[in-house]
Amino acid sequence: MRAVVLGLARSGVAAARLLRREGAEVWAVDRRRPAELGEAVGALLPLGVRFSLGSDEPDLLPPAELCVVSPGVPWTGPAVGAMRARGAKVLAEVEYAFRFLAEPVVGVTGTNGKSTTTALVAHLLAESGRSVFAGGNLGTPLCERSLEGGRRDVSVVELSSYQLEGIETFRPRVAVLTNLAPDHIDRYPSVEAYWQAKARIFLHQGEEDFAVLNGDDENVLRLYRGRARVFRFSRLGAPAAGAFDDGRALRVRGLPDQSAEEVYVELSPALRGDHGRANAMAALLAARLCGAGPEAVARGLASFPGLPHRLQTVGHFGGAEWIDDSKATNVESALVALRAFEGPIIWIAGGKGKGAPYAPLRPLLPGRVRLLLTIGEDGPRIRDELGDLVPAVECHTVESAVQRAAEEVRPGEVVLFSPACASFDQFRNFEERGRYFAAQVRALG
Ligand code: ADP
Repeated sequence: MRAVVLGLARSGVAAARLLRREGAEVWAVDRRRPAELGEAVGALLPLGVRFSLGSDEPDLLPPAELCVVSPGVPWTGPAVGAMRARGAKVLAEVEYAFRFLAEPVVGVTGTNGKSTTTALVAHLLAESGRSVFAGGNLGTPLCERSLEGGRRDVSVVELSSYQLEGIETFRPRVAVLTNLAPDHIDRYPSVEAYWQAKARIFLHQGEEDFAVLNGDDENVLRLYRGRARVFRFSRLGAPAAGAFDDGRALRVRGLPDQSAEEVYVELSPALRGDHGRANAMAALLAARLCGAGPEAVARGLASFPGLPHRLQTVGHFGGAEWIDDSKATNVESALVALRAFEGPIIWIAGGKGKGAPYAPLRPLLPGRVRLLLTIGEDGPRIRDELGDLVPAVECHTVESAVQRAAEEVRPGEVVLFSPACASFDQFRNFEERGRYFAAQVRALG
């Protein structure tokens, strides 16, 4: 059988290796040039994989029976269309990988909070003594798990809307939909089409499976059409089956193995804020539904280390808490970050703006942000739009913003680096930006 792999990042490489192991003749296609793909070519050439690089022009694609698509390749793009037109069965990388897995899978999707929820489900299950794989869209591709063979107790997989468009049998034992917000509208004909792609996570579930839904998100509830047993998490209501937040503790009821209501009081700082508590509820339901006991879940919620660059504490200079939230590359993320603290906050923001107004942040500033320090290309715009509410100082760079914050900060305050902007004007990506911020903070002593 001949197979084409579209996209040669880490997922594509793993898919090509798995296909070779299964005896397929494999063509690897990427529009990037060979010089940029040295590592991928180095890994696959010795396995007898053939390449078509530097273009994904439909005319140049080899005919094949099977086409496995990497998460970053748009499902609606010309390459996928051309492979279909040639009669290939087109599958997402995660779908191909799933066919080799023996263990139950937890699938996590949604607009925000996917990575945190995925990592937390894995952490809670590991705390309960399970051997867990965590990966998918972020981190280790699922095909790498399939190549590893053997059996884990559970695999926890983060899924993008692209990947979910390419599933055919993918059936998570527990499927989590964190929330739906307008995003990626540039890549979809409509918001509704993007949301529907996400809701495909429930498509192949049966009555023995579980769906974990955000009970406060009307679009999640509206788009759910599954056969699984539904559990909801809510900050506003108190669902009969699921989790809710009474403001002091997270409470759980109605689980299959549950006798009395469970109460979880202690949450790690990595789960602070309303969004952190929502992610915590989603993850704890998934972990409990996979058999983790309440004691292990309680321990895991308290000890979760969080993910880098998402409200991560990176220092305590001057008696303040210094927080790296470099992952906040848009206004909505900065909004949930500011909401997570009562203040006083010294807020560092700016970078490469995405054109969206900063006005939605205005209600959060008075009484909470004591000083705004701006950086990067959009610094002046942020000062224009918000600078009438709080003192604002143009600092241009992360380095001088950290210096200025160090001079101004008072004990008990929070210095929050939550840029509300992409990083590309001054850094390669948000990770590099976050590492740079943390290094500057450490250098303060
Ligand atoms: P994703 O993998 O979906 O991008 P992450 O867990 O990496 O999500 O979180 C990315 C950013 O999204 C966080 O820095 C935070 O600002 C915001 N966020 C996280 N969880 C939520 C949530 N449940 N609701 C709204 N925003 C969230």
